[in-house]
Amino acid sequence: MFESILGQKKIKKIISNQVKSGKIAHAYIFVGQDGVGKRLTAVEFAKILNCNVDDFIKTDAGTCGKCISCKKIEKNIHPDLHFIDFARQAELEEECLEKQRTLKIETIRYMQKEVATKIHEGKWKIFIIEPAERMNAAAANSLLKTLEEPPENTIIILIAKHKETIPQTILSRVQTLFFQPLGQNEISSWLMLNCSVDAAKARDIAELSEGSLENAKKLVGKNEKEEFSLWLKFKTRNFYISDILELSKNIAAAGALECVDAMIAEAKKDFRMYPQRTAPALDLLSASRVLLLKNVNAMTVLDNLFFDLSDLKKMSGLL
Ligand SMILES: [Zn+2]
Repeated sequence: MFESILGQKKIKKIISNQVKSGKIAHAYIFVGQDGVGKRLTAVEFAKILNCNVDDFIKTDAGTCGKCISCKKIEKNIHPDLHFIDFARQAELEEECLEKQRTLKIETIRYMQKEVATKIHEGKWKIFIIEPAERMNAAAANSLLKTLEEPPENTIIILIAKHKETIPQTILSRVQTLFFQPLGQNEISSWLMLNCSVDAAKARDIAELSEGSLENAKKLVGKNEKEEFSLWLKFKTRNFYISDILELSKNIAAAGALECVDAMIAEAKKDFRMYPQRTAPALDLLSASRVLLLKNVNAMTVLDNLFFDLSDLKKMSGLL
């Protein structure tokens, strides 16, 4: 089962065993970084539970892939599979997607109405709530009521990057499954098979992708020298002293301030998600920017900056 999902052997085994034995939890939380297959696994799970060819559920395939249920889920038009996410919330609020920051109680209430209605045509109603870590307190409280009285033939799957903001009362009522970052070999093999990249490039991209297939896909086709940003490189690679000296020489010649500004812009994006972990790096970058504006020797500023970033990564990670 779950053959279309890359990696995640342990999780596939857990869910497959549950499906085969009929011991399915009424609620789950899938935790892990972006691009490791959480949403795909949830959708495939829904497909397996609703496939019209009963016997397939007992096989390793899990789904027939051809019945009306499998096809509707594939096309995202199955009336018993519900996504409770920013896209749905934007639709409900008649607002644009970009404005969505938290999942609100009104959206959970909308879900609860659907939970209370009769099943449309499938065997199981599945609700996928994402990003669960962005539920505000009122929404989480409201969801708790549904979890406390699990409705029949309904599975609720929370999808989250981390569990820190999710109340313990919710976590105690759901089964937690941790999705690990994908292995570099898994990603590079996938790239070679699906994106016709050669082994060396696949390895390079896999190294930079931080275990995320989504990152890897974005990096395919980009020219490393031009597009793989320096911030991403510092996040993912270990630099030797000789690399750093060479790097600062090249960048000082090409435009130190532009480079530091680009790194600041990217670090700020990470800062929104992980303020505590990104703040020290952002401080270093901002201090270097000030020195460059004061016309301190660019190569010296960059040398210090890159050594400091490198140390920071070794000590605690930039992210
Ligand atoms: Zn089917």
